[in-house]
Amino acid sequence: MNPSTRSGFLTLLVFFYWVKSLVAYFVDFRGLGINNVLQFITAVDNPIFFTAFILLLAGFIKRARYFYPTVIIVYIALNVLLVVNVLYFREMTSFISFNTIAGYGKVSQGVGAASLSYFKPHDIIYFADVILGLIFFRKIKLDLKPIKRDYLRYLLSIAVLGVTSNYALASIDRPQLLTRGFDVNYYIKYLGINFYTVQDTIDSFNRDRLKSQAKPSDIDNIRAYIKKHFAPEDAKYFGVAKGKNVIYIHLESFQQFSIDAKINDQEVTPFINSIYHSKDAISFDNFYHEVGQGKTTDAETMLETSTFGLPTGSVFNRYYANQFQAMPAILDQDYGYSSAVFHGNNASFWNRSVMYKSLGYQNFFDASYFDVSGRKATTWGLKDKLLFKDSIPFLEKMSQPFYVKFLTVTNHTPFTLDSEDADPTFTGPNTNSPIVNGYFQTNRYLDNSVREFYDYLQKTGLDKKSIIVLYGDHYGISESEDKVAAQALGINTDNWNDFNDLQMQKVPFIIDMPGSNLGGIKDTFGGEIDAMPTLEHLLGIKTQKYVQFGQDLLSSKHEQQVIFRNKDWITPEYASIGENIYDTKTGTEIDLADLTSDQRKQIDKLSANADKKLGYSDELIYRDLLRFYTPSGFTPIKPQTFDYSYTATMNRLNDYGSTSIFAQNGNRSTSADYVTDAPEQNDPRTDSARITIQENDEVSSSSAESQSQSSSSQ
Ligand code: MN
Repeated sequence: MNPSTRSGFLTLLVFFYWVKSLVAYFVDFRGLGINNVLQFITAVDNPIFFTAFILLLAGFIKRARYFYPTVIIVYIALNVLLVVNVLYFREMTSFISFNTIAGYGKVSQGVGAASLSYFKPHDIIYFADVILGLIFFRKIKLDLKPIKRDYLRYLLSIAVLGVTSNYALASIDRPQLLTRGFDVNYYIKYLGINFYTVQDTIDSFNRDRLKSQAKPSDIDNIRAYIKKHFAPEDAKYFGVAKGKNVIYIHLESFQQFSIDAKINDQEVTPFINSIYHSKDAISFDNFYHEVGQGKTTDAETMLETSTFGLPTGSVFNRYYANQFQAMPAILDQDYGYSSAVFHGNNASFWNRSVMYKSLGYQNFFDASYFDVSGRKATTWGLKDKLLFKDSIPFLEKMSQPFYVKFLTVTNHTPFTLDSEDADPTFTGPNTNSPIVNGYFQTNRYLDNSVREFYDYLQKTGLDKKSIIVLYGDHYGISESEDKVAAQALGINTDNWNDFNDLQMQKVPFIIDMPGSNLGGIKDTFGGEIDAMPTLEHLLGIKTQKYVQFGQDLLSSKHEQQVIFRNKDWITPEYASIGENIYDTKTGTEIDLADLTSDQRKQIDKLSANADKKLGYSDELIYRDLLRFYTPSGFTPIKPQTFDYSYTATMNRLNDYGSTSIFAQNGNRSTSADYVTDAPEQNDPRTDSARITIQENDEVSSSSAESQSQSSSSQ
């Protein structure tokens, strides 16, 4: 192989790419869950064929001055795709999809900042070609002779044969790989990242076509399924919180394992623990997050609409123009609730300012409503203690009852705190992982923030007028750090398996109804998809007419099958994780041969139900099917009627009515009742801002907004 010939040069590039891919597959992607020889073979050879195919196409270029730049640009693009996937995987444990790239402007800078803390020594291999290229630059001569056409065709056909035979092997090992859309791991190990990216891009265009072809009867099967699985309300709980304010506290990245956990004999989150055990709070200890790539926004999609996030990408980024029958709208139409989200990041982050209108939120207080300058914010937005405190002047002028959500951000990967924000009374763990050490520190910060907010609620008597829901949106500790976190909590990690990782995906779900005496810790198996109907029933809202995939957790008919976005599932008896079945009670893998045929049938039925439920939810979103079904008494949401501009919002608040906290306090602010020990609270406003997630999508989202606004005025 002589790199000074064109074919030798291409071979060298393919070789480098192959080595990097193997490092990515087997080190960074942790072996891709390869569990047989066939998968091993395809994983080892797939980076060669597809890459060779793409680079060989450039071989048809005759002139050296076009051939070499083309080859190098294509090669760089392939490498960037690989490395970005590696960084993305370290934080998100998943791969970048077309949808993620399409919406990547919104998250890239935050992910970028977080990714730096995930850099590993072996990353040098990803830049080995650049380093060697610089050293040996002069040794490689440009070859003016094009590759012979016949030889080129011969090489191309080998590459095509390689890709197709991998595809054939994949079809034997995993039928309907492409049509059913399995976990992305499968695409990568059979066909490679490049193939996956191309396939995913085509899929995404197909989805747009799906929507335009949908017809009204497409929703019939879905409604029949929902009807069959409806879990009616329990009379004991129905309407017990009727007319109360709803305060959702979104505990960013907060996992169940922190509840009641002790490190160095100290509770990590003593205050949240006290709510968890309160006689007024209904708490769940087998509640799982069910998010996919959309992470926080998947949690929001489930809680606000009781439909799942998507297999790839986020509903917020791609399907914001759909019809939704969401919580803020239902509460407004049934009981006249006002609504708001408080979030100390930019309105465009995850396309929220557009999506919230589609959900029917009347107000959105984003970073522009707060002083987020200087050290008052982290990369991810206003610090939690300040978010709660600085929200009060807005909250107190809203009419009651209200439905509000506080999206916290400080307990966010990479879990760093300014030293003055760390709780000096909390020691925290001392593991070799800065992520794990930081996690428990930011947990404690979050706990203190919630305590300060609760103090205010109690002082003003707002607690008794409200139902306060605390939930963790998704994991903060990614799978690569699970064992370290578990060890810090004193959990034995010998024989750690996939079931243990799944247990780490539990998140808190606490419904606090101060004064109700209805509390208790329930061991019902459930997940985020179930939050909406549970809450609706407590608020006295009948849900049978709605298309909701969740079931009331307090209903005796709740099915207790938690379904995850990758089609894994768990029940009180079994857990299906990847290709394996586990015994939920013991956490050990079950040899299928040991099961009776009835047990196997039961498991098959549960797997089929998981597929069906996710599939129906996806269909509903992809085809925008709720536009064909309006439940009686529900008026479709008109996003263009909402205006989140500062002037319009302040005008609304200045018109506060007699039901606002402000009016009930004798037209005086309750801000003085709010006490925080946040060291930044009195910092003067400056020009500097730490929030690094830029509004890259500002053009697209604001033009989408102005379009919908102008269409409404016509
Ligand atoms: Mn989140």
